[in-house]
Amino acid sequence: RAKTAGRNTMRFFDPGLQASLEARTLLEAALRRALPEGQLLLHYQAQVNAMGQVVGAEALLRWQHPTRGMVSPMQFISLAEESGLIIPIGGWVLETACAQLNQWEKMPVARGLKLSVNVSARQFRQADFVPQVSEILQRMGTNPALLKIELTESLVLDDVTGTIEKMHALKAMGVRCSMDDFGTGYSSLSYLKRLPLDQLKIDRSFVRDIATDEGDAVIVQTIIGMAHNLGLDVIAEGVETEAQQEFLVRHGCTVFQGFLFSRPLPVAEFESMLENRTSSRCG
Ligand code: C2E
Ligand code: MG
Ligand code: MG
Ligand code: MG
Repeated sequence: RAKTAGRNTMRFFDPGLQASLEARTLLEAALRRALPEGQLLLHYQAQVNAMGQVVGAEALLRWQHPTRGMVSPMQFISLAEESGLIIPIGGWVLETACAQLNQWEKMPVARGLKLSVNVSARQFRQADFVPQVSEILQRMGTNPALLKIELTESLVLDDVTGTIEKMHALKAMGVRCSMDDFGTGYSSLSYLKRLPLDQLKIDRSFVRDIATDEGDAVIVQTIIGMAHNLGLDVIAEGVETEAQQEFLVRHGCTVFQGFLFSRPLPVAEFESMLENRTSSRCG
């Protein structure tokens, strides 16, 4: 193809690039079929308080492809955003999360759990994002107070005023908002205090070396202090070791998510984990 396109384009022909573009086109075509063919599912990762009780979960999207196997969101979320597929997929995630909350409300071991759902920038920027959330909650009959939406700093910075408006509308509905991967973006204190947030979520890149890297330790202490000063909850993601948890507790962070407590699990395993934790505490 490069040859027939002429001499000038030939310089740009790169078989490696061509192959990766083709792989991407194939992946996009496969992703387009994932939702109608029922290949998407949610896994749930526990959020645990200082007493070791599971107080919530984060819904994490998984794509179970018949031949590719389990495809990680790292491989397909950006593709879903660029292709616009994140709009129907994101709607499905919200609806499935609400259906799950309804189920959990009927289970003594899971009643009252909050569920955090990741929302991508493109999805949040839709003019009718808030009415969509409201429509889903009403149609599903889900308690809005159990739903938490995770946004990222870059999403907020795209359009601070618009984001603040939407967050206020969500808050008025009873839905909570959390700032995901906090610390990796460029949030300034001045507009952070204008955002009607409920929670800051410390990015796991800072948690990882908390016990050995002085810089990360200071960043984490600063984030916890900021959250407290702004009257926000704070949660740490990616907690893998007792030493990390111990540091976080010592500096005032009381909710954790990470492999130390549980990996993201299919719903049946998540529910057995809840039952095991409950029975081992009582018995
Ligand atoms: P995130 O929202 O920051 O989610 C946390 C990620 O950290 C998850 O990766 C989780 O499996 C991983 N994680 C949790 N605890 C630990 C730990 O202790 N150690 C380590 N090393 N990792 C841990 P996952 O499931 O691969 O998701 C990656 C990203 O994909 C998410 O990052 C989120 O940005 C995006 N994503 C996932 N589900 C959705 C979704 O439904 N919608 C949108 N828009 N994005 C999603
Ligand atoms: Mg998240
Ligand atoms: Mg995160
Ligand atoms: Mg993250």
